[in-house]
Amino acid sequence: MKTSNLEILGIDLPQSENEEFYDDGFVESIRDYKIRLLRDYHSYQPEEELNRDVFGTHGMFWVGSKIIRHIAYLDQKDNARNINTRAHEETHVLAESGYLDLLTNKILRDVGISLDLSLMFRFGQKELVSEIRGIYPLKRLGINPRSIEKFRDETFRVALEIYEEAIQKTQA
Ligand SMILES: [Zn+2]
Repeated sequence: MKTSNLEILGIDLPQSENEEFYDDGFVESIRDYKIRLLRDYHSYQPEEELNRDVFGTHGMFWVGSKIIRHIAYLDQKDNARNINTRAHEETHVLAESGYLDLLTNKILRDVGISLDLSLMFRFGQKELVSEIRGIYPLKRLGINPRSIEKFRDETFRVALEIYEEAIQKTQA
């Protein structure tokens, strides 16, 4: 089966012949990047959507019977922040491809934390799911997620609480 590497999560994403994934790396401006993608794929987003993503973004486009997914992110000049953002965007791709379980299993294997977010995802909490998963690679690298808290929004703080609660449950 064809796979695409999700570098930060360390997961090979299984893909059908109809799917393509591109990690477009660091970009100068998320807004300009989105406008370029939308133009390339003859697609459209309202103005408020263009301005929504701050540090990274993911896009999904249909071309005939193909589904093409892209991610890109800003260089925040800080390893922990970049890793967090990239893991967040990679999780969106993983979840939308229907393979959130791969990461659930990997987190259990790697760090012994049981964190099943499939219900949360099914009920539309996509940002929160990606935010929680974005914390995992930081922990794996020994980076304290609290160290980047001040650069993040309320969703990150909620995600961190859920993540730490899962750790406590696991240790109990
Ligand atoms: Zn997101």
